[in-house]
Amino acid sequence: MKVLIIGGGIAGLTTALQLLNRNISFTLIDHGVNNSTLPATGIINPIVFRRTTKSWRVDQFLPSLIEFYSKLEKETKQSFFYPLKLRRIFSSNQEKEEWIKKQTCEEFKPYLEKINSKDDSYNLVKSPFGTARVKQCYWVNSEVFMSSCQKYLSANKKIIEEKFDFEKYNPTLKIYKHIYYDKVIFCEGSDVQHNPLFNYLNVKPTKGQILTLSVDAIPEEELLNRKCFVLPIGNGYFKVGSTYEWDAADALPTKDGKQKILDNLHVLTTTPPKIIAHSAGIRPTTYDRRPFIGEHQKFKDNFIFNGLGTKGYMIAPLLSKELTEHIFQGVPLHKEVLIDRIKIDW
Ligand SMILES: Cc1cc2nc3c(=O)[nH]c(=O)nc-3n(C[C@H](O)[C@H](O)[C@H](O)COP(=O)(O)OP(=O)(O)OC[C@H]3O[C@@H](n4cnc5c(N)ncnc54)[C@H](O)[C@@H]3O)c2cc1C
Repeated sequence: MKVLIIGGGIAGLTTALQLLNRNISFTLIDHGVNNSTLPATGIINPIVFRRTTKSWRVDQFLPSLIEFYSKLEKETKQSFFYPLKLRRIFSSNQEKEEWIKKQTCEEFKPYLEKINSKDDSYNLVKSPFGTARVKQCYWVNSEVFMSSCQKYLSANKKIIEEKFDFEKYNPTLKIYKHIYYDKVIFCEGSDVQHNPLFNYLNVKPTKGQILTLSVDAIPEEELLNRKCFVLPIGNGYFKVGSTYEWDAADALPTKDGKQKILDNLHVLTTTPPKIIAHSAGIRPTTYDRRPFIGEHQKFKDNFIFNGLGTKGYMIAPLLSKELTEHIFQGVPLHKEVLIDRIKIDW
């Protein structure tokens, strides 16, 4: 059995690791320019704020990602996965009331701390409606994660740095550059728009920008969230972001993006920050916020793993496992990820 993976972001890397676990031979092709997994902040947060709802399938994703990243840290002998304290700064009284209603519900108890008097009187940043803490948050250091995975995989299997050339691929025979593969898995992130087999799914590129800065007025113990996240990364530095831009022409940082982040930070503190770095990336998002996973309707044994949107670090470990169980054991995929929700006549 020989598998070809196209794309070495978190979708391709987690898939490759699943294959390695199953002792299945693979080649991974990546053209070396990563627009999402590398620039991402790597925050794992089980709660969607404002309406205080649980993130999609979080009860399943959390145990799976904890096991996955902890095991990978041991295997690679690297550290990139950390528990994170997250404080939500409420944006209204209504949001706070919603939290209070839910904090004692069984299904929210694993994620919402009960608000106490210290949360109410928290004044280290501007917090006119009070604050609360989320349980079970994590941080994946994206740079260390990616470099550890790449080293580990290239020591074990084949990683090729090149642009996959569709002119040299026959999707019916699954022959690429004269080599036959049993299965081909496309994990190209937002670049899937150039893939003639799967571009009909219309994955939307959503640009995001992030500032790395230092600011004396912000405490370093917790990630703060209101209008933006402020993630402490050590030595007085923070990552702050990010923007959501739907019609961006490229993945470059812009003046407008920087200003938007500074305006959002101003809601928490009026102390001017010192800007250290400014970066940008492109998320592969979908119209219904659900990933696209599955086999091509016409070209059998050609698969896609894409549309991880804003949550790749949370959802890729379990989804890559489900994808490989589907391909090699025939286990049905979760119904919400199926690609046949987009109709097309081939
Ligand atoms: C600013 C920003 C902040 C984010 N913050 C978070 C966060 O805090 N938490 C979280 O969970 N998620 C976050 N995300 C989202 C997360 O990064 C994505 O969900 C995830 O990285 C998508 O991974 P992917 O593997 O699908 O795509 P990518 O990471 O884009 O990987 C695709 C890979 O395919 C390769 N490729 C494409 N076409 C070809 C080709 N023809 N030939 C060879 N190689 C090819 C590219 O080189 C690339 O390496 C953030 C994203 C951004 C942009």
